[in-house]
This record gives sequence, C-alpha cells and structure tokens, in this order.
Amino acid sequence: MILDQIEAFDRLVKSELPSRPAQLFGKACVLGGSIAGLLAARVLSDHAREVVVVESDEVNVKGRPRAGVPQDRQGHGLLPGGGAQIERWLPGITKEAESLGAVLADPERQAIYVDGYRQARGSDAAILMGSRPFLESRIRERVLALPNVSTVAARATGFEYRDEAVCAVRYATSGTGKESVMATDFVVDAMGRSSRLSEWVERDGYDRPRLERVRTGINYATAHFERSVNHRAEDLVSALARVSPSLSIDGVTVGAVNAIEDNQWLVMLMAYGENGAATSMENFRSACGKLPPIFAKATSGAVTRDILTYHQADSRRRVFAGCSHYPARLISVGDAVASYSPVYGQGITSAALHGSCLSQYLTSGPDLTTAAGAFFALQEVVVDAAWAVSAGGDAAMMDEITGAEVPEDIQRQRWGMQQIAQATLTDETVSRAFTEVAYMLAHPSVLGDPSLIERAVAVNRGT
Ligand SMILES: Cc1cc2nc3c(=O)[nH]c(=O)nc-3n(C[C@H](O)[C@H](O)[C@H](O)COP(=O)(O)OP(=O)(O)OC[C@H]3O[C@@H](n4cnc5c(N)ncnc54)[C@H](O)[C@@H]3O)c2cc1C
Repeated sequence: MILDQIEAFDRLVKSELPSRPAQLFGKACVLGGSIAGLLAARVLSDHAREVVVVESDEVNVKGRPRAGVPQDRQGHGLLPGGGAQIERWLPGITKEAESLGAVLADPERQAIYVDGYRQARGSDAAILMGSRPFLESRIRERVLALPNVSTVAARATGFEYRDEAVCAVRYATSGTGKESVMATDFVVDAMGRSSRLSEWVERDGYDRPRLERVRTGINYATAHFERSVNHRAEDLVSALARVSPSLSIDGVTVGAVNAIEDNQWLVMLMAYGENGAATSMENFRSACGKLPPIFAKATSGAVTRDILTYHQADSRRRVFAGCSHYPARLISVGDAVASYSPVYGQGITSAALHGSCLSQYLTSGPDLTTAAGAFFALQEVVVDAAWAVSAGGDAAMMDEITGAEVPEDIQRQRWGMQQIAQATLTDETVSRAFTEVAYMLAHPSVLGDPSLIERAVAVNRGT
C-alpha cells in the first residue's frame, strides 16, 4: 500500500505533458482564478475547446491586497517540487520570472538552520523566489495568454445538474450582481480554503465531503526590506531557520528570508500558540538579530513594506474519497481540498500536483458519467504526503509546547525523525533524503526506511 503511494507520487512528480490529449469537453469551468485555479485551467486547456475561469476578486491591482486571498502578502516560498510542476505546465516561466526580478537560488545559496546550526547540503534543486502576488501574476499572464482560456469577473453561487452530473454553474456578475447560468461540461472548484462547495452539494442532495481539522494556532509576521545591489553572487539568498520551542527566540520558532523581486528581502517570522510573532519593527529586528546572520543583514536596509500579521487557527482538509453519492464532472483542487500549516510551504506545490492528477485522470479515458473517484484517489496520495509532513510536524511541536502525553508508536516515529533531523546537520545523504521530502520531490515514506534511520543514528553517535 505504501509502495503504491510512493510509486503514484513519483509518477506525478516525474510525469510529462500529455502528448496527444483528447478533447473531452466543449466548455470547462474553473471557479476561483488564483494559483490552483489557473494551473487547473492550464491543464483543462488541453482537453476542452474553451475554459472559463470565474473569479470574484479584482486581480492584479499592484499594491492592493486580494480580499479573496487574505494571506497573499505573507511570506511564501515555492518549493522546488512545485517549481518543477509549474515549469512543466508553463515552459520558460522560471527564466521569464528571473528576467523580471525573481531570484533563482541554487543549492549553494540556500541554507536551512536548526537551532542555529546549518544543515549539510541537501537537494540539488534550485528555488525560485518572488512574492506570492508576483508569482501569481506570472502564472496568470501565461495561462490567460492561451487562446482558449478566458475569465469572467463574477462570484459563483451554485450548480445545476443533469443525470447526476454538474451541467451548469450559477454566478453573480461582479459590480452589477446580475445572476446568470453558464452551461459547462466539467467544473473545477479552486475557491480556496473558504470554498462553499461542501454546502452547495449537500444542499443539492449529495454527500458532503468530510472535513478534518488540526489545531495549529500559527502567527505570521512578514515585512520587506531593501536589498543592496552590492550583494555578492555567492552570498546566501534564501534561508530558513527552525528553532525548538524550548529555545524559541522571543516566541519565534521559524524564520525565513528570501531575496525577491524589486531588489527586496522578504522576511517572515512565525510563532505558535499564544506567542505573537513580532509586531513592532524594533521587536522584529531584535528577533532577527538573534537568528543566523543573514536575518540581521536582510533587515538592516530600509523598510519597503511594513510588518503585516496573519493568524491561522487550523490546518484543514476535505476528504472526497468517502463520498458515495457525489456529482460527476466535479472536482476540487488547491486549498479548497487541503490548506496545510503554512510554514511548510506546501500549498502551491500541492495545487500544482493536483493539476498533474487532473491531467492523469483526463488522459486515462475516465468514465465521466460517475463521480471522479480515480481523480480523488490520486489526489489523496498528494494530500496524504503533504499532510503527513506538516500536520505531523505541527502536532509534535504543539505536544512539546503543551507537554501532552504521546502514544508509544508516535514517540517511536518521532524519535526516528529526530535522529534524521539531527543527522542532516552533518551528513549529506541524510540531508538530501530529508530535503527532497520537504521540497515535495519525494514521498515522505522514504524517511521511514530503516537503513536511513540506522545511518542517521550512526552519524549522530559518530560511529
Ligand atoms: C500565511 C500563509 C503562508 C503561506 N505560505 C505558503 C508558502 O510559503 N508556500 C506555499 O506553497 N503555500 C503557502 N501558503 C498556501 C498558499 O497561499 C495557497 O496554497 C495558494 O494560494 C493556492 O491556493 P488556492 O489557489 O487553492 O486558493 P486561494 O489562493 O485562496 O484562492 C482562492 C480564489 O478563489 C476565489 N473565490 C473564492 N470564492 C469564490 C467564488 N464564490 N466565486 C469565484 N471566485 C471565488 C478567491 O477570490 C481566490 O482568488 C500559505 C498560506 C498562508 C495562509
């Protein structure tokens, strides 16, 4: 079972663009035109004569936050697993983004610190860095340039059905509120964490997907600073610092620094539970001064965007696989399916992999008269993999903070992970395995391999 999951995950990570995609639909409709929706639209453009993206926000207004994406001004990193998926669907986007000021950090210029110690070199993958609005705008430009993709500025409000399949989307046009119905052959819900899809299908007599929540209580603070043009080519441009709760720095347990567009540094500090991440610039800079030196350097320049905070109470996932009565021709992607603990940076990558799940589903000759069970099963492989890393990591952190009692089997697993985490500081083989999982290039089960844990134990003992 686990081997099947590893194989399915690997196939998604390495999959190619469909060579001769079959046109299955006249019109496909994507609800939500953020990152997950745009990537789904790209995939659907291979299989539909026309793809319409329905988005309620006014998008691409430079400097104005998005109401529908309240997290968009917070620190976002694109994991290499997601970067590779997006590059595959939109070839050349990495170079284009770089030419517009994004920074591609090769492995020598990335650092991960654990309690102040730098991890040994891990994955060979480069990281593309830009703010979230910048990355979204690059993806939007490329997807909307496709001749068969268009947008409608409107708020989706529900569905109509024929023969147990969705056959139309109801929507209210932005500005006028005029209500209309759009006939469609396939629908993708990409309406984010607060998607109303569950309520709509339940209201219409179908099963409601089960919602799972894990309390996280995460507090983010993000600010931007001027990045000197004298920055040397070999200097670090990306750093992540993790701090054990017992050693937390003014409550901060995670910090991240990324060089982004417009010669800026993006700096993010995160605190769990009652601890707010620094909200005054004085406290922000003071906490950065106690993290590895790149944090002080990045915050030493002029402030280009002041501190913005964000609180997320829980991680959530919706489980579709258990629905026995669900409409055909309807799927969900991105945060509408799973919104993980943000510090693991998995959301965009997971959304991109959902796009690849959709492509595999549509190229497999699916039975479109029944619910998309094969798609949901594949998507669950991606969500389970990401969830195991982030929800598992957060639960360990919260248990340490609250001193909760932990069952023996979980204690054993955590002991193995601690051995691996410690060995990443000195051993490149362990560090590579660990970062490939963190970057969503490999399935997390590879870290349960007894030979890897034995190696980590031996490294840590110095034997
Ligand atoms: C604090 C924070 C930090 C994060 N950091 C990272 C990170 O470092 N790396 C990473 O990969 N991910 C990160 N994430 C997750 C990331 O933001 C999301 O995974 C990513 O934005 C993709 O989400 P999405 O497209 O599914 O949904 P969203 O970006 O939330 O977009 C949903 C869209 O649907 C639209 N919409 C909603 N309702 C309707 C409707 N009825 N009709 C029409 N349109 C509608 C909205 O306007 C919006 O455009 C972070 C999240 C948070 C909260």
